[in-house]
Amino acid sequence: ERAELILSKDEPAITLDGKRVRLEANIELPHEVSQALDMGADGIGLFRSEFLFMGRQILPSEEEQFEAYAHVLRAMPDKPVTIRTLDLGSDKTLDGEATVAVNPALGLRAVRYCLSRPDLFATQLRALLRASVYGRLRILIPMLSHMHELLAVRDALESAKKELDAAGMPYSDNIELGAMVEIPAIAIAIEPFLKALDFVSIGTNDLIQYTLAIDRVDNEVSDLYDPLHPAVLRLISQTIQAGERVGKCVAICGEMAGDARYTKLLLGLGLNEFSMHPQQLLDVKKLVRTSHTNALRTKIASALNRAESIDLNSLGI
Ligand code: PEP
Ligand code: MG
Repeated sequence: ERAELILSKDEPAITLDGKRVRLEANIELPHEVSQALDMGADGIGLFRSEFLFMGRQILPSEEEQFEAYAHVLRAMPDKPVTIRTLDLGSDKTLDGEATVAVNPALGLRAVRYCLSRPDLFATQLRALLRASVYGRLRILIPMLSHMHELLAVRDALESAKKELDAAGMPYSDNIELGAMVEIPAIAIAIEPFLKALDFVSIGTNDLIQYTLAIDRVDNEVSDLYDPLHPAVLRLISQTIQAGERVGKCVAICGEMAGDARYTKLLLGLGLNEFSMHPQQLLDVKKLVRTSHTNALRTKIASALNRAESIDLNSLGI
């Protein structure tokens, strides 16, 4: 079985009807990039940078962050490496910085937190820019919901570039900027955001939480946390279709993308970029290679307008 896995690592993820699908890896710490390479990942679709900041008293310096980001980019110089800016707050907090938010999931987290801490954000952006010379960096903004937040991030990036220019430090002029689609508002109003960005990645973990008003870490309501709810699937579908219209990449990096039960469903929704835990890559690839996307698209399209959750068994997928 091991031999079979090693062989399939080098096989391309192409469907039976010839569609090339990108299968990328989610990582939390820099050294995990080697596991992604071992499993034949087409890139890093999500590096959760907050894990560099968690479980410690002193924040990582610009130098330490630069080394961490550069390590991943150097390991994959020819493949896209998507590094998400700090997604702190809610379920992920800094040591010693107790959350006082009334409702942390709806509070000052992720990009909101970064924009309220300009020094901390600038340090991360400089580290990212400096690391960008080693590969193909894509910067991913978590929890974006307002256009003015995107403009503020762009301003912060421009300021960081000016600081590096002044210090004579190089950075790539080919960095892509994208955002997580994980708040329903941005999924509903997706088109102008897609036009203003280079790519988006759907965070189904939070998108499901916010669409269904189900706390993703509350066991009391976990039976209502339903990836197959038609509202969730329509938000995903609309986002993918808007990406096709505007000509921008739409990926999914939430848990759904690595769950083999949903691979055919997501192909049927038109998804062609999946990012997941490296251990899940080969199973998902096997399913991609035995799927016929056009047939799946027809099947799924007719099931999206129902009131109840999609029944994958009855659709035969
Ligand atoms: C998500 O919300 O789906 C996601 C990928 O981000 P995280 O799980 O880190 O919130
Ligand atoms: Mg999220």
